Amino acid sequence: MFGVESWGRGGQSALMTAPTPPPTDSRRGSERGGPDDASPPDGPPSGSGGPPDPSSIETSRRPFVLVWEVTQACDLACDHCRADAQPARHPDELTTDEGKRLLDQARSFGPGQLVVLSGGDPLARPDLRELVEYGTEQGLRMTLTPSGTASLTPSVVGDLESAGIERLALSLDGASAESHDEFRGESGSFEQTVEAAQAAREADLPLQINTTVCAATVDELPDIRELVADLGAVLWSVFFLVPVGRGRVLDPVSPARAEEVMAWLSAVSERAPFGVKTTEAPHYRRVAVQRTRDASEAPDADGIGRRLGITAGDGFAFVSHTGELYPSGFLPESAGNVREASLTERYRESDLFESLRDPDRLRGKCGACEFKHICGGSRSRAYAHTGDPLSSDPLCAYVPDGYHGPMPAGRAD
Ligand code: SF4
Repeated sequence: MFGVESWGRGGQSALMTAPTPPPTDSRRGSERGGPDDASPPDGPPSGSGGPPDPSSIETSRRPFVLVWEVTQACDLACDHCRADAQPARHPDELTTDEGKRLLDQARSFGPGQLVVLSGGDPLARPDLRELVEYGTEQGLRMTLTPSGTASLTPSVVGDLESAGIERLALSLDGASAESHDEFRGESGSFEQTVEAAQAAREADLPLQINTTVCAATVDELPDIRELVADLGAVLWSVFFLVPVGRGRVLDPVSPARAEEVMAWLSAVSERAPFGVKTTEAPHYRRVAVQRTRDASEAPDADGIGRRLGITAGDGFAFVSHTGELYPSGFLPESAGNVREASLTERYRESDLFESLRDPDRLRGKCGACEFKHICGGSRSRAYAHTGDPLSSDPLCAYVPDGYHGPMPAGRAD
């Protein structure tokens, strides 16, 4: 699955307001169909000559994170699946040769480009190892988000690490087999995920844990946090549900509850032995800024400035299993197909991506907000609720001083 933003020190963008201490680990990536609300790609890819300096990356020129949904095939039937994953591979998936051409294009963004192989379940592709090796040979930083199934054995994890994978991202949406397996629609998924996490640790492969926040999972977050620590993860990516795919049938948390969770995550990030980032919740940055202001802890209590986090189309891009270029896996508006169009040209110059990189084009509450340059709201969630990617994010509880315009569609409180 994949959406956008990140926070803390995972694999995407350094957010100046992110209070997350970085684990001492150079092999970081980021996974999901959506943008992470902070954290730049860091850490040297083997043979790539080193990673780009995050502060030097201009997100109008290249993404911090490029996600390639290599397939929609998956044996699981998760309640929240963005991809609406299917048991069989789609006949029009990018072929092995087309995938290699895509990786060639990714390389042209610049050295050390971070590529996340997502799904569906990437393990459903028999050429996965070949693609990982090819990308690694090109100097790309290859990471993977496999599904927790019986296919993800310790030997498969070790094999992928030897092929060049720099980070493994696994999903845990419950702290017990009962809750996780119910959410994932497959008995045994929890056990297989934990085994894979342990295998990653034994292979010295950095581990990221992804967790979905919705009404069904929110009460388990404290216990999941403990599990993330026990598994030795370097990053916890907390995804706030966007109603696309099968996720439409799930209940999101309310804006007020989201606010509480973000404040809690901000506190967790100050103490945890792992980084914390949010996905599809860039207002986490606003919450952190307000929190430090309140505590009078920040040396720069103003805290508002150039946005360093990443959002859909601005530091983040997603290529679907059939080659469509989207700003996010949760914002399925195509800027072209990589079979015919240039990935770099479309990322840099398409009207869609350019509009998403301009906070002054936001509408409604987000457009009036003084935090729009560090936040801007989830463009994916705005799109899911209104069909307009520049409208306001209905998950945000904040109302700018003096704003009397319409409240976002879909607002739950
Ligand atoms: S109103 Fe929009 S820009 Fe402002 S904090 Fe909320 S989501 Fe971010």
